[in-house]
Formats: sequence, C-alpha cells, structure tokens
Amino acid sequence: MSYILTANAGSSSLKFAVFNAGKDLELVHKQQASGARVGELHVAQWLGDVGIKTHDLVGVGHRIVHGGTKFTAPTRVNDCVLAELQSLKALAPLHMPFGLEVLRDLRALMPHVPHVACFDTAFHASQLDIAKRLPLPREYHARGYQRYGFHGLNYEHVVSALGKNLPRRLLIAHLGNGASICAVMDGKSVATTMGFSTADGLVMGTRTGAIDPGVVIAMLRDDQLDVDGLEDLIYRKSGLLGVSGISSDMRELLASNEKAAVEAIDYYCYHAARHAGSLIVAMGGIDAIAFTGGIGENSQPIRDKIMSHLKWLKLGSENIRVVEANEELAIARHVGTLVL
Ligand code: ADP
Repeated sequence: MSYILTANAGSSSLKFAVFNAGKDLELVHKQQASGARVGELHVAQWLGDVGIKTHDLVGVGHRIVHGGTKFTAPTRVNDCVLAELQSLKALAPLHMPFGLEVLRDLRALMPHVPHVACFDTAFHASQLDIAKRLPLPREYHARGYQRYGFHGLNYEHVVSALGKNLPRRLLIAHLGNGASICAVMDGKSVATTMGFSTADGLVMGTRTGAIDPGVVIAMLRDDQLDVDGLEDLIYRKSGLLGVSGISSDMRELLASNEKAAVEAIDYYCYHAARHAGSLIVAMGGIDAIAFTGGIGENSQPIRDKIMSHLKWLKLGSENIRVVEANEELAIARHVGTLVL
C-alpha cells in the first residue's frame, strides 16, 4: 500500500490526515488536536497506532500559510527551500513558526520521504497587480508589502469540488474562526479580502478585519499600546468577541439572547456582504456564491442573513452553494502531482 500524509498546522491547532495514494486519494485516517493538546499529538506514535509504516508513505504534504512572492506553487522541500521559508516567518508571525516547526520535525523523522510545502497564498498569485498593490510608496512593494491573500488551499478545494459546474464568476466565502472571501473568475483568484496579513477584510472570531489605519495610529499614540499590545487587540480581542463582549464562537452567539450577541451577528453579516459587494465589482458581476468553513457550512441563519443584504443580486437558490472545507485533500492532491 502507498499513502500520503498531510500536516495542517494552524495558529492553535494541528491536523494530520492519511490518504490512500492509489485509490483516488481516499481518506483513510485523520487526527487533530487544538489548544493545549497540540503538544500531546505525536505523529510517529499516531501513525503506529493506526498501522501505517513510514516506508509506506510516498510523500508528506505540509500546509504553509505564507509563500511570500517567491513560492507561488507547491514546492518540494530541501534544505535551501527550508532556509528560504524561515526567512518568511516575519510575514505571518502567528502561523509560520509552528508550521515550519512541524515541517522540520517531520523531515527529521522521515528524511527519505519527499516533503511538499503547499501555500495558502499561492492560489492568489493570479491576482492582477492592481489588486495586489498597497497604496504605499513604491519601494514598499519591492520589500514585500503587498496584498497576498490566504485560505488558498481551501479555495482550490472548493473550485475543484464544483468541478465541471464551476460558475464563471464565483464568490467563495470561507467563514471559520478566520474568514475571508475570494472572487474567483474561471477558477482563478482575482481578488480577496485578506491582504498582507490574515487580519484584513471580514470581521472574524477575534480579529478586527479591515480597520481604519488612523485608529491604529491613535491607539499607539493615545493609549500607549506597544506593538505586542496592538497585535493582541487586533488579532485576539476584537471581531465577534470584541463586539459582543461574550464569545468569538458563532454557535454561542446564535444561542445567546443577549442584545450584544445579536448586534455582533448583525455586524458580522452586514460587513461580510459589504466586502462581497466590493469583490463582485472586481469580477464585473456574479454567477454564484459558495459558502465554506465552520460557519459557512453549518449555519443557514448566517448564510441567509448575509444573502439578505445581497438580495439585489437576484441569485437563485441553485446558485448559492455549500462546500465542506477540506484543505487536507488539496494538499494531498498537490503531493500526488509532484511525487507520483
Ligand atoms: P477554523 O477557522 O479554526 O478552522 P472552523 O472552520 O471550524 O474554524 O469554524 C469555527 C466556527 O464555526 C466557530 O465560530 C463555530 O461556532 C462555527 N460553527 C460551527 N458549527 C456551527 C453551527 N452549526 N452553526 C453556527 N456556527 C457554527
């Protein structure tokens, strides 16, 4: 038997999956841990427990959040690639260090198996320069201050899941703890709400999404916040959690009778729809919208509320799709393409 292992290291979660390399990439095992339990998940032991031997693995695929301007396609990892990836850590300080640690550990554990880095930014390399550029002095662009976009592996998965029925102008709304929307034309990303960082765009569980830069400057000046305090405020204390004062978890907010919970949900949906409108402009129209991610897949009330702001599009219900997120399958596919 031959198998492909995928490793998906998030900011506070770790997921492993094993796919059958020979049988249309059938998922055979998966395991995940989040929060404090991440440290307890040891892949060698888990593979042994489920009866997979490392010499049965034909490749290991790794989700790497940021590929910078250089890595715009899945890449086989060698020492040189790893060193270049290390230099990108600063571009995504909350996500990259853990992903690269897992990559290093698994390479050390399985040095003879090909390892493939798959990037969340890569899907968005197709954006036009006008969508990628930040309105800063030109030299900043050359230094890497650009809009990259994220969640690309799941966007690829949604595009491939829609297959032959892929609408020409498609919005994909990935609504999980982190959230973004992507405008996809003919299967390619033309614009997306996340930009240089994963803090831009939609209101998220604990992240602000797009925010007036003047507010940030005022906080640094007036509130004497330092960089760490500001990062904590923007990434961990805001969004649904900040606006509701109750929870970052959409299920809890939907179950709450408190006025602030209702306000946070209304705020979330209203701004998601406003961002959607901007992306529809980038496509010159829209044929369909697909929802994915924990909220997008599971919550009809949230989908309905967002769509209620977009009634004027007159999209028929057959053009509102739901696709289960599956980054692992997108990664396994890339490994299959590169190593089989
Ligand atoms: P991550 O981005 O960390 O992978 P998920 O995609 O699992 O997260 O999304 C988590 C979010 O999905 C949480 O806000 C959770 O409350 C929400 N969610 C999951 N199931 C439901 C549901 N049935 N109704 C509403 N929200 C849900």
